[in-house]
Amino acid sequence: MSVLIAGAGIAGLVMGLTLHQLKVPFRIFERVSELKPLGVGINLQPNAVRELMDLGLGPELDRIGVRTRQYGFYSKSGREIWVEPRGLAAGYRWPQYSLHRGKLQMMLLEQLKRRAGADVIITGAAVSGFETSDDGAALLFRDGRREEGSIAIAADGIHSAIRRQMAPDEGEPIWNGAVMWRGTSPARHFLGGNAMFLAGHDHQRFVAYPLSPEDPDTGHAEINWIAELRTDPSKALSRGDWNKPAEKDAFLPAFESWTFGWVDCPGLIRSSGLVYEYPMVDREPLPGWTVGAVTLMGDAAHPTYPVGSNGASQAIIDARKLGAAIRAHGASRAALLAYEAEMRPRAEAILRANRGKGPDAVMQMVEDRCGGVFDDIEKVIPRAELAAHAEHYKRLSGFSIDTLNAQPPILGPL
Ligand SMILES: Cc1cc2nc3c(=O)[nH]c(=O)nc-3n(C[C@H](O)[C@H](O)[C@H](O)COP(=O)(O)OP(=O)(O)OC[C@H]3O[C@@H](n4cnc5c(N)ncnc54)[C@H](O)[C@@H]3O)c2cc1C
Repeated sequence: MSVLIAGAGIAGLVMGLTLHQLKVPFRIFERVSELKPLGVGINLQPNAVRELMDLGLGPELDRIGVRTRQYGFYSKSGREIWVEPRGLAAGYRWPQYSLHRGKLQMMLLEQLKRRAGADVIITGAAVSGFETSDDGAALLFRDGRREEGSIAIAADGIHSAIRRQMAPDEGEPIWNGAVMWRGTSPARHFLGGNAMFLAGHDHQRFVAYPLSPEDPDTGHAEINWIAELRTDPSKALSRGDWNKPAEKDAFLPAFESWTFGWVDCPGLIRSSGLVYEYPMVDREPLPGWTVGAVTLMGDAAHPTYPVGSNGASQAIIDARKLGAAIRAHGASRAALLAYEAEMRPRAEAILRANRGKGPDAVMQMVEDRCGGVFDDIEKVIPRAELAAHAEHYKRLSGFSIDTLNAQPPILGPL
């Protein structure tokens, strides 16, 4: 019997590629009738890049993404708080990539179809729930269909139907009152190229990074940006739809003065095409992910604020860890429990860190201590404290440089 996967997002597709690598039969059921390259920019951390390279996808990542060289925090007036090298420049054996989510999803889809055949993905198949015993699972569909398998894996995102059956009282995702407006614009690289920056504090923030190299003719690259404002959390907002278009007037005035000399934030907003609005939402961690022979992965298991460049990376690690557990225990409840025992505590720690003391918490510390205005950052937060803070989050998320470099592969190359 084959493994059943609900959802052909990043998590579900990497799960499929991993099961194909392990020669375990599987099928993926996706709600939409045609997958389209939706979303804007995301980052893949070296731990996740390593896994995609072990799946033979290294050249594809170079084709669709940019190797991120630098990551930094800045005050609301554009003063440097903390800058660190990333990926190969930091000493990892694997790069970090900034890339378009939709391009990544399309690349994974094409590779999966090429390797495993187009019929492993069934589109237009919206999962509504599951049935399970300890040694088998069935997915139930909105159109009344029912499919049986050895195990079922929910990779159906933040509004997972399978999670809803496991936790029927959970309700909608929890909103913290912040709204992110996201877009991409044609502009030059900044800060020496291939650099990502976050500026501001908890109540107002701007994040940007390039998704492509500069075009030799125009000098322009595709720059991804996120403008974030905290509003009144009691205001009703969308429940977390990644594709909700928005008007620039809602946030552009608040960023009008954010021209730092080295980057023009209002200029980036003005020159973008469509802008999307997304509320900063997550969910309380569940006490368990596995019911009978059904488990959760990716955003279905641990939806968290997209603040640590971690959502897609953790989804990829889930897929590889679940693959390793299936190799060790077969496609069985024992494999699902082994995977959950390893990944759930880590996911919960990341979620809690992202709620408060994520890597960017230093920006609010600077705002609290000096209103974002300073000559010497050492007098506001000693560099040793900034370094310890950055290292703590990397360790938590599994991409501490020395640890990751020394770690054996989760599954190894193809
Ligand atoms: C359209 C879209 C745009 C996004 N844009 C961004 C972005 O710009 N920036 C960012 O940081 N993150 C974005 N994300 C979220 C990001 O992709 C995830 O946080 C991360 O990659 C983890 O992926 P996942 O596979 O667990 O979830 P997702 O990428 O959300 O994938 C879930 C998949 O399951 C499918 N699905 C949902 N319900 C059902 C169902 N009942 N039955 C069958 N299939 C179902 C969905 O159509 C989707 O293909 C976006 C997600 C989506 C779906």
